[in-house]
Amino acid sequence: MAETAVYPGSFDPVTNGHLDIIERSAKVFNKVVVAVLHNRNKEPLFSVDERLTMLRESVENIPNVEIDSFNGLLIDYVRQKQAKTIIRGLRAVSDFEYELQAASINRKLDPEIETFFMMTNNQYSYLSSSIVKEVAKYEADVKELVPTPVTAYLYEKYGPFSGE
Ligand code: ADP
Repeated sequence: MAETAVYPGSFDPVTNGHLDIIERSAKVFNKVVVAVLHNRNKEPLFSVDERLTMLRESVENIPNVEIDSFNGLLIDYVRQKQAKTIIRGLRAVSDFEYELQAASINRKLDPEIETFFMMTNNQYSYLSSSIVKEVAKYEADVKELVPTPVTAYLYEKYGPFSGE
């Protein structure tokens, strides 16, 4: 087994697509650090603390996963964690260009750190945090889209889902 890997993202909020990537990478790496990025340009729905709490509650049963947050350059954070691997998920061709650019610049900044891509599980290929927020905003059911603990947090922001 390889050592520590960092899975960075906004996780605003964590979805079943993210959770699938976390579960699968936890089988490959000794330790997976899921890292919530501060200071994003886009205005998040959930604060960093809320996102951390939702992640913690969602991965409770996976012992080798750590939940953390970071500021600044990803490469600096990965070094600080003494990790050698960054994990990213790929859903569609539309993810590719941005991910190629990010992986290339990260390799230029530190050639010792590799980016590993994991293909989405087909059943989650349509799933993103933005889609979840859109569905929740109109009070539709998000039960199949996010880990169970997250539904309550969406409920708090947007009110009850019809059919609940
Ligand atoms: P970012 O804003 O950094 O893209 P996200 O929280 O949206 O952060 O996503 C974090 C990572 O998870 C990215 O690599 C993204 O491609 C991946 N990801 C998001 N949704 C899915 C999904 N449904 N299946 C697989 N990977 C996903």
